[in-house]
Amino acid sequence: MSQASVVASTFAYPWDLADTGVESALRHLSDDGFGALELTVCYHPITLHTPGAPDRRLMYMDRGAVFFPARRERYGRVKPHLFPEPEVVKAWTTAAELAPGMGLDLNAWTVALYQPWIAHEYPDTARVTPAGQINLGGVCPTSPDVREFMAILVGDLAEQFPIRTVQLEGVCHQFFDTGWRLPRVLVQLSPWNRWLASLCFCSSCVAAAADRGISVKEFRKRICDELEAVYRGTAPPSDRPFDELQAERMAADGDYAEFISMREEVCVELVLGIAERLHAARPDAVLGLWGPQEFDGTQLNLERVLPVIGVLQTRQPMIAPDNARRAREIADANGMRVTAVHWCGGRIGPAWGPEFERALRASVELRIDQINLFNWAMLPPQIASAIVPLLRRIEAEVNGC
Ligand SMILES: [Zn+2]
Repeated sequence: MSQASVVASTFAYPWDLADTGVESALRHLSDDGFGALELTVCYHPITLHTPGAPDRRLMYMDRGAVFFPARRERYGRVKPHLFPEPEVVKAWTTAAELAPGMGLDLNAWTVALYQPWIAHEYPDTARVTPAGQINLGGVCPTSPDVREFMAILVGDLAEQFPIRTVQLEGVCHQFFDTGWRLPRVLVQLSPWNRWLASLCFCSSCVAAAADRGISVKEFRKRICDELEAVYRGTAPPSDRPFDELQAERMAADGDYAEFISMREEVCVELVLGIAERLHAARPDAVLGLWGPQEFDGTQLNLERVLPVIGVLQTRQPMIAPDNARRAREIADANGMRVTAVHWCGGRIGPAWGPEFERALRASVELRIDQINLFNWAMLPPQIASAIVPLLRRIEAEVNGC
């Protein structure tokens, strides 16, 4: 029995499309066998080397930006910080006009909380450590302004462009060191202590905790004291599993349990708010999440948002087998699709060659619905052009046709 083909998509940066020429880039993608692209809507700091985009061998960005022609007047307190090159921002408009005619689905790729430009321009939205230092690496979802911004952003995008899927990334409270540049961390914290160090005490978190009746000052001091004991070596390091410690603390410390519940709730609200705007603007568009775990291991309460989600994105099964298998199970039980991100080369993915082929095969065998290549324009053109033919060969072998 023949099976439906895996959709081949690639992450795409607006600057690469603009520099290559949007029409030319999309034509290449289509000729290379791709059926979709995941185009960046907003992004975080990055340094890229792009052999596939001849006019821009280097992309360096300090704080991130918004990459589509966002309509400023529609936003609340947080106004979109557009990337300063108009030709790059215009790539979204041109891609939306041309992609459907070339057989390419246009999907939107957003990062939610890893947008340091927001933290820099609106410092009260930045994360704050238990000890009180501002952490400008990203923003906190407890801030109503942050949640409102992301919801309006997705609605604005969906009103303007015929997007099929909006993939959300980074919708959970992030770890304390996410987004740091050139980090120098010499201590190895246990998962539990890394978690404690990542609890946010920004003004929004403090206010939301107080609203729930938490004695914030005393609770915060307990967190700081616990971490201090670890740093000073007066508390023995614990290698007990995180889940066990979490359950124990939830049962023993009412303030802690309430605080964690508050944090979970705002992330759910973030996703539900985005879904509402997306579906109001474009009822047939689908919302996607990393699941069940995000790329960095953080995890949303998926049960609460499943009704508004149509896609789960996972790291490629060869790298994250448990997460990918669980994503497939959840998707099968809920009528959802699964996309797998395939890095080709770099520090995360296998380089082009037998290992990359094995990784693709693992996705086909797990019945992944779509692969998202990272990243077409960052690969030498001869490799980028060979990826979908390889995928099709593997599919034919696995499916016996
Ligand atoms: Zn916070």
